[in-house]
Amino acid sequence: MRENNGYRFETDLIHKGIPDFQGVGSLVPPIYQTSTFVFKDAEQGEARFSGKEAGYIYSRLANPTVRVFENMLATLEKGEAALAFASGMAAVSAVLTTLTKTGDHILCSQGIYGCTFGLLQSFKDKYQIDHSFSSLESKDEVLENIRENTACIFIETPINPTMRLVDLEMVAEAAGEHGIPVVVDNTFASPYLQKPLLHGCDVVVHSATKYIGGHGDVLGGIAVGRRDFIEKMAKTVQKDMGGILSPFDAWLLIRGLKTLAVRMDRHSENAEKLASFLAAHPKIEQVFYPGDMRNPDWLIMKKQMEKPGGLISFSLKGTKETAQQFMNNLRLIKIAVSLGDPETLIQHPATMTHAVVPREERYKMGISDTLMRLSAGLEAWEDLRDDIRQALEKI
Ligand SMILES: *Cc1c(COP(=O)(O)O)cnc(C)c1O
Repeated sequence: MRENNGYRFETDLIHKGIPDFQGVGSLVPPIYQTSTFVFKDAEQGEARFSGKEAGYIYSRLANPTVRVFENMLATLEKGEAALAFASGMAAVSAVLTTLTKTGDHILCSQGIYGCTFGLLQSFKDKYQIDHSFSSLESKDEVLENIRENTACIFIETPINPTMRLVDLEMVAEAAGEHGIPVVVDNTFASPYLQKPLLHGCDVVVHSATKYIGGHGDVLGGIAVGRRDFIEKMAKTVQKDMGGILSPFDAWLLIRGLKTLAVRMDRHSENAEKLASFLAAHPKIEQVFYPGDMRNPDWLIMKKQMEKPGGLISFSLKGTKETAQQFMNNLRLIKIAVSLGDPETLIQHPATMTHAVVPREERYKMGISDTLMRLSAGLEAWEDLRDDIRQALEKI
């Protein structure tokens, strides 16, 4: 993964954008745990507020530790600038609020994160901002679903939890014909595996809570895109709604981010092995994994992802109760939502992350009552396999 000029991605992860604050040579950036910044005189305060002088004012507007995290993500996603948020949902809601107004329409991929679905529902109920879903499988299909009032296209790929993929380049091309920005929730892939901006998309959002943090100990969000868009969002929605990332949480995310490449390699390796084990098991109905050559989106995976990633979904033969019984039989694998942690986690979308989605809508998204999503952790894969095997034997 040689970058155009300078170091490779894995090296940039560790070194790029880490300034030597105050020239003390600290290897790791300090935590600027301060709410406000002192001006040397009243005139400097005036100059900072008017924008004549660059510098910090108040931590809701900008903070040096948070800035390091933002600069790292802008570099890794190949964007001009980035803005950090208190959570992935704070990032998603800020981006969509910035891009839309009453009367607009948002075109979405066939599946989206449960809370993003909830957010779009309240946009519709409260502000008459409509949305619709499309599988976005061809350029014609994208063009057919773009309306006069479509303000943006919002994509997840891989899609949560069905692991279907969307061809980013194709959607960006179709959207470009109408000048509509394309927003990609890149949480499932991480910038190590997929860089949507390089495929012509306009904005990337992440729940940094997942692979970017990577240790299950912090919530955060990030949006990356063109400088004018990021600055506009910083000066309006983020400043006034205030969903900012704390300096300490930024510091944890910086620490987590440095090991992203090695973690993603292991997550992907474990997922690939578990996916083939599951696919061969007689009690499994179907496995959804983009690394499987029989997956309808395998070619898209090859085109836009470095590796298929660490998430697998699969359905059991049986009922909702069979799935719940299987989960209860697991000893090592933890029942929890979230993903991208060192621990392997399993969850049941129909009753957990996507419980807010009405049943019919859920079925249309491909979320059956026995579908489970597994986030492959960093454990020895044989131990994970053995745990799944014994849990399956008992149902
Ligand atoms: C978790 C998640 C979110 C929300 O992120 P939070 O940090 O929990 O607010 C958004 N999109 C996807 C795909 C996610 O997995």
